[in-house]
Amino acid sequence: MRNYLIIFFTLVLGVSTLSHCSAQEENGFTEIVLAQIGNSKIKMVLRKIHKHIYMVRGVNGLPSPENQGFMSNSYGILTSKGWFVVDALATPELSKLFIKGLKQVKNLPIKYLAITHYHMDHWYGAQNYKAMGTQIIAHKNLKATYEGNGNLVLAATHKRFKVFKNVKLTPPTIVIDKKSKRFNMGNVEIQVIPVTPAHTNTDIMIYLPKEEILFVGDLVNKGRIPFVGDRNASSRGWIKYLEKMKAYKIRMLLTGHNNPLDKSAIDFNLGYLKYMRKEIARMKDDGLTVDQVKAKLRKTPYTKGDKVDFFHNLNIYAMYNKIGITEMLEEEN
Ligand SMILES: [Zn+2]
Repeated sequence: MRNYLIIFFTLVLGVSTLSHCSAQEENGFTEIVLAQIGNSKIKMVLRKIHKHIYMVRGVNGLPSPENQGFMSNSYGILTSKGWFVVDALATPELSKLFIKGLKQVKNLPIKYLAITHYHMDHWYGAQNYKAMGTQIIAHKNLKATYEGNGNLVLAATHKRFKVFKNVKLTPPTIVIDKKSKRFNMGNVEIQVIPVTPAHTNTDIMIYLPKEEILFVGDLVNKGRIPFVGDRNASSRGWIKYLEKMKAYKIRMLLTGHNNPLDKSAIDFNLGYLKYMRKEIARMKDDGLTVDQVKAKLRKTPYTKGDKVDFFHNLNIYAMYNKIGITEMLEEEN
């Protein structure tokens, strides 16, 4: 991840709200500034983070007219057989910029797009890939969401955040169910591994065994609390998969929202989820209401209590409702 390549190029952008910038030197290495987002100070910057991996990193926060939905990461793995992309960003405008950036690095076909889970900021930019014949890999439950209430959720999301006007939901062409799949990309072997239910019921992770690099979507977070408030989330499943993840050889951990991490980042997430499950189960068993639990868990070893991450309270409500004594006993065995 230290070998940042110096690349010089500029991009002509076709998106009216995104203005054009050129290569720029920052923090001692040169990166490709793909675009300035809207009228804001936010920039989409393509960085080389490994011999054949490139990334853009979104900003923290919810989608807004200011960030135009650029609040998540997207990765391009360059192989001798073409590109393999991880996560689609939140809108077709954003993924178009990312694709143009990859093509500038190397004009090879984008063979595959893997979507780590169904949340808007990882899935909603997928239509551009479909348009150029990229195979789209996702968990089978993402396909079920597409065929089910996906468009209702999209309409509600658009209404709330105002930045998803041009999104057309795109289904996977390759589904992952219970078994992992291998993709031979010439010089790079890529494994797609189901890890669901955890953060959602559509989680997959992507592993490069030779490089020892693992893409984990939102299963690992640094600097923010893991979000377990999705209706299809399972804190128990999440803990199980984080334990499994720890058995992998990992030189670089690539997430949905952070800069590249090392393996130690797993522990904060595991610790938080285990602590919360244990405390909530105990308090629920003692007859405390969800609001009493919320008050008691304002301060934890993982949350300071002054500026509580807003995911934390959502997590308490979701976990309080799901956790039962049966589930706890299962977990302890
Ligand atoms: Zn997510």
